[in-house]
Amino acid sequence: MIDVETAIHRILGTVQPFDASLVSLAEADGLALAADVVSRVESPPFDKALMDGFAVQSADLAAGSARLQVVGEIMAGQVASRDVGRGEAIQIMTGAPLPAGADAVVKVEETRRDGDRVEITAEGIVAGTNLMRRAAVMKIGEQVLKTGTRLSPPQLAALAELGEIEVAVRRRPRVAILATGDELVSVGETPGPGQIRNTNETLLTAQVRAAGGVPQPLGIVRDVPEDLAAAVQRGLEADVLVLTGGVSAGKLDLVPAALSAAGVREVFHKVEMKPGKPVWFGVLEKARDGRPRYVFGLPGNPVSTLVCFELFVRTAFRKLMGMSPPQPQPVDALLECEYRSRGDRPVYHPAVLRMTSEGYRARVVPWQGSSDLRATVEANAMIHIPAGERRYDPGAVVQVYSW
Ligand code: AMP
Ligand code: MG
Repeated sequence: MIDVETAIHRILGTVQPFDASLVSLAEADGLALAADVVSRVESPPFDKALMDGFAVQSADLAAGSARLQVVGEIMAGQVASRDVGRGEAIQIMTGAPLPAGADAVVKVEETRRDGDRVEITAEGIVAGTNLMRRAAVMKIGEQVLKTGTRLSPPQLAALAELGEIEVAVRRRPRVAILATGDELVSVGETPGPGQIRNTNETLLTAQVRAAGGVPQPLGIVRDVPEDLAAAVQRGLEADVLVLTGGVSAGKLDLVPAALSAAGVREVFHKVEMKPGKPVWFGVLEKARDGRPRYVFGLPGNPVSTLVCFELFVRTAFRKLMGMSPPQPQPVDALLECEYRSRGDRPVYHPAVLRMTSEGYRARVVPWQGSSDLRATVEANAMIHIPAGERRYDPGAVVQVYSW
């Protein structure tokens, strides 16, 4: 059986990123850049006042005070029609371009207006005080954003400032979600004897969306080969098909065979981990339209589904969308509780991760295994516990994946 690292490595070796295309900034929200962005502009584009006040020659204030002649006024968006000479000042607003001749701004709080004159008492005014020089923030030709960066509000705003109104990104994957199992009823129904609700569809729909995909829930399919074959065909219209249930060793675990019959090549089946061991991953190299399809068969227990999605399906999404790095990124946290375990597989234990002024802290939540979804209600992360006999005391460093 392969380990989690190998499984992730195989996913990254199998999944090919989508082609890049240009989209508007609004559409690029949450997607990753498919090319570096180099500034074609300077920011700020002119020497700019950082305060409301008076543009002056700093030499006039060498003594700390002066009485200057006010020769004009500039609002943001205007340019001065004349220079500032010795003994002169121009009233200026934040964001307005500094008039020629001036080399500093005195804030209005340090001045007193008296008709066409201004009295200034301000210590320490030197060339550059209260202004930002042209191109101080960004120069032409400077790299501002790197390929693979996920675009969130600050990056989008920086692109807007640069005038990059269209950017190269890779699209979101369309993701079909298919729950298998004779025991399942839809969440709106009341389960009869032996039946349970299809919680995985709700779980995966939300996870797919949170991970940047477009969910396409396909409902429940019975453990009947013909029904499963038909449902798989529908699912293969999406970029990624995520099935749950039917991948372990039970009598009605029909998913691997159904996928093989549909031409989906198995890349791995079963990973050394808890929960999630029966997880299946494969690829249909060329669907009818010539593009590949990726298929995950996740074990049916909801916490297995959740953990496998976070570790494996999300990794595939990041590769498809060109996000870097594509691997899941754990953080180191100090354990806030005791933890003892003995197992032949690494455990991904539901946990509470929190940021403190001294770094990350994590504690496990009480958990009864892969069907115990109740435990995850409190959790926002999972702690990775390596296989073997483990004794962790409070303060031990553990690896944590947030979700
Ligand atoms: P399976 O992987 O099909 O053997 O299912 C393992 C366990 O997960 C069984 O107890 C199933 O009833 C449960 N299960 C399977 N599919 C779902 C689902 N969509 N929602 C909730 N539980 C499920
Ligand atoms: Mg089943």
